[in-house]
Amino acid sequence: MSAAFAADETHDPRAQSWVESANRPDSDFPLQNLPFGVFRRRGSSEPFRGGVAIGDFVVDLAAVAATRLFDGDAARAAAAGAGPTLNALMALGPEAARALRRALFAALAQGSALRERLAGALVAQADAELGLPAQIGDYTDFYTSIHHATAVGRLFRPDQPLLPNYRWVPVGYHGRSSSVIVSGVDVCRPVGQRLPAGAQTPVVGPSQRLDYEVELGVYVGRGNPLGEPVSIEDAERHLFGVCLLNDWSARDLQAWEYQPLGPFLAKNFATTVSPWIVTLEALAPFRVPRERPAEDPQPLPYLDSPQDRARGALDVTLEAWLETAAMRARGEPPRRLSRSSARHAYWSLAQLVAHHTVNGCNLNPGDLLGSGTQSGPSPEEAGSLLELTVGGRQPLPVGATETRTFLEDGDTVILKGWCEAPGARRIGLGEARATVLPGRPV
Ligand code: CA
Repeated sequence: MSAAFAADETHDPRAQSWVESANRPDSDFPLQNLPFGVFRRRGSSEPFRGGVAIGDFVVDLAAVAATRLFDGDAARAAAAGAGPTLNALMALGPEAARALRRALFAALAQGSALRERLAGALVAQADAELGLPAQIGDYTDFYTSIHHATAVGRLFRPDQPLLPNYRWVPVGYHGRSSSVIVSGVDVCRPVGQRLPAGAQTPVVGPSQRLDYEVELGVYVGRGNPLGEPVSIEDAERHLFGVCLLNDWSARDLQAWEYQPLGPFLAKNFATTVSPWIVTLEALAPFRVPRERPAEDPQPLPYLDSPQDRARGALDVTLEAWLETAAMRARGEPPRRLSRSSARHAYWSLAQLVAHHTVNGCNLNPGDLLGSGTQSGPSPEEAGSLLELTVGGRQPLPVGATETRTFLEDGDTVILKGWCEAPGARRIGLGEARATVLPGRPV
């Protein structure tokens, strides 16, 4: 499956770029990362076009394509990435993206003969407005953290926290793609129906229990035709890369509406994604074995492969941070609420693709999959306020004087992610940030 994603010269931790800011040890975007996004100059009416992050700069793929800097597969990939979304590049499959990655790596490396020609294609990130990187046709949200599923299940069903299907089937639902927004776009507190405690009839109004969910987002690369399942061996070759994803959730709306068909208005008002997509290629040094206790049922054959067992999980550190309006006013820095790793997911990305398509469902380039809330094994690794406050019963201290059970208007939620491993250069996913605005009156 993943021969395409084995480490190569583009993962060499000693490699440095002539873009000096990429060589800072804390940069999310060193030469070894090269994530894709779309951008235009801030304040301009230029069209959005594809770009690749390097240090504090963006490589303009439209400029790379126009100046014929590369040839072959890399040129084809740069041309496909020059449009206002990355869908065409995603559709080309991993070989094209890999060719472009290798060409950019060589061109951006210290001593490159292409330095002068490429320098004209760099735009400072400070001067760039980052857009939603793909036209997302469909969005599917999964539930891959057994720790999250168990903790949330315990709140609602103390005697049976984990439902019997969990260890057999990657649980998911179809979300809403129209409200997927890029980091920096504010989120309006949703209005909807909720059943107040002890009441017999619901009320309609702004959610009183607004929450975030720390997730990994995954973009589909090359699609599959309707009726043709993707095998687990081939699954990762249909994925383009990952981002941070905040699946905003109105817990009070959710509790009232979710039976029997699952989430609806509690989830579909906003989903925030980070602007940069880190390719599976870049993540090669951060693969780890998929965790599954020996006493658990082993996956059915269509969800199992030796490769996926050995390297199916991604060790991506994920953090949630909060900055309240009062903290902002006092000039206090944001406070970290949790840290965990996507490595604790019970189901791998390849398993999600194999399961999603086993019935013949077709995935298209630019489709977005959410991993589900990534909570780790210990309570402080929980990826939502619902878990961190035990269903809103234990207020969480934030800032100097405040506490939170759920989010308040003016709160800014910031997700961060990065990867570290021995013998590898640290790479980052950047951040997904958004501020909660008051709900609109009904
Ligand atoms: Ca979710």
